[in-house]
Amino acid sequence: MQQVEDLEAMMDAIIAAPSADAFKHTLPLAELLEKLVNKKATFDAALAKAAEHADAGRLIGKNSHIDALVYFLGISKSEAFRRVQRANDHYGNSSPTLSDAELKAETSLQREQRVLQEAIDREEQTKANAIAVKHAISGEKQDVIRYELEKLNEKTSISKAQLRAMAMHEATERSVEDLRSWTRTKVARINPTTKDPNAALKKRSLSIGQQDSDGGARASMYLDPKGLALLKAMMAKAKPGHLLKLSEADDDRRTKAQRQYDALVEILHRANTAQLPARSGVGTIVVSLSAKDVCSLEKSGAHHRYPTNIGVTLTPAEILRLGGAKYDFGVVLDPASGRPLHLARTQRTASLYQRLALFGSELVCTKEGCDSPIEDNDIHHIRSWFDGGPTDIENLTNICRGDHGDNNDKRDGKDNMGFMDTDPETGRVGFQPADKGQPMRFNNSATAQESGGAQTRRQHWPEE
Ligand SMILES: [Zn+2]
Repeated sequence: MQQVEDLEAMMDAIIAAPSADAFKHTLPLAELLEKLVNKKATFDAALAKAAEHADAGRLIGKNSHIDALVYFLGISKSEAFRRVQRANDHYGNSSPTLSDAELKAETSLQREQRVLQEAIDREEQTKANAIAVKHAISGEKQDVIRYELEKLNEKTSISKAQLRAMAMHEATERSVEDLRSWTRTKVARINPTTKDPNAALKKRSLSIGQQDSDGGARASMYLDPKGLALLKAMMAKAKPGHLLKLSEADDDRRTKAQRQYDALVEILHRANTAQLPARSGVGTIVVSLSAKDVCSLEKSGAHHRYPTNIGVTLTPAEILRLGGAKYDFGVVLDPASGRPLHLARTQRTASLYQRLALFGSELVCTKEGCDSPIEDNDIHHIRSWFDGGPTDIENLTNICRGDHGDNNDKRDGKDNMGFMDTDPETGRVGFQPADKGQPMRFNNSATAQESGGAQTRRQHWPEE
């Protein structure tokens, strides 16, 4: 295409020499390009919706079209997810908003009102979409609107779709930051007029951020009144001197925030060490240390971080602070396959020990490229239980919810869906694509490389 070549030539010219003249020459092109890029945001949403209609996950043996977008476009899972959300804003969500039970409980008047509101919302959606396309509203602005609108309570005087259309109109004139505060203010003004008794409960949340280079992470919480009351009651005890030895209590230099944090961690610590019901294993922290690790603890240094079952890495000092000895489980791994052979120390039920054994060898989901920590994952029978596969450690592996849903237990190649299997030659667990002529694929992600199994295999097969 000639236009594309002209465009590229102009881009190359200013990249080679970003002069004042080049600025003047290139400005009209830059404006056009920016507009195109903004329009791409809506195009991306349309492509995501089309991928959903095409059941595109099947092309790569998965259930979700989100995985297909990640695979074909080389984008991150979070970016693919944003595009799908934007597509739902534009074209509506295919999953129903009311459950069957809720539909049954509806009176005829409520039903009439709902159908009317849905018709109004569809019109507003079309209006908002037209503005987004005509004015090439950027993906960033569209995402800001969605993010702020998520805080809108249910059953407000103005619906989400109506407010979205208004915000999209504002987006044509306002900067990203200004649009964010406009939408936020609007939501705050509309919210209190409603009397949804569960509004705070619906907003409850606790999210924990990524571990930073110091090993810590930020967390943020929204508390409903019950949680708020409990936490406030606990925090009331965090007066100066709280939790300190008598001799140190008079000279407490901690800030109020630090005392409150210490009080919270003390509660978590007590909950974690309390007797848990058998099989649950909830809140147990397991640190993966091989015999070699223990011997070379000094050599590795005080700052070396060891993997745990919850996806957080800990230094020796941090392990000790947790009361490390209590969590010291030893797993003996087969040197060739890195699979668990034997599990030392048994106190809990077998299933928890199998989890621990898989943790020691696998650490994360065994599907190619995945880094979901075992604590979040399912234990999967490689040869399915219905097919006579036993609940023995040799027949178990851990895979995440998403990958578990993509596993074809029947192994019949239907819908291009493959399955987890054990490599007959090496004994390692991996993914077998639906086409059995294709080789098995193993998880060599950065986190999987940290697993006990990978470390053992490296010692046995140094070339791997
Ligand atoms: Zn996975």
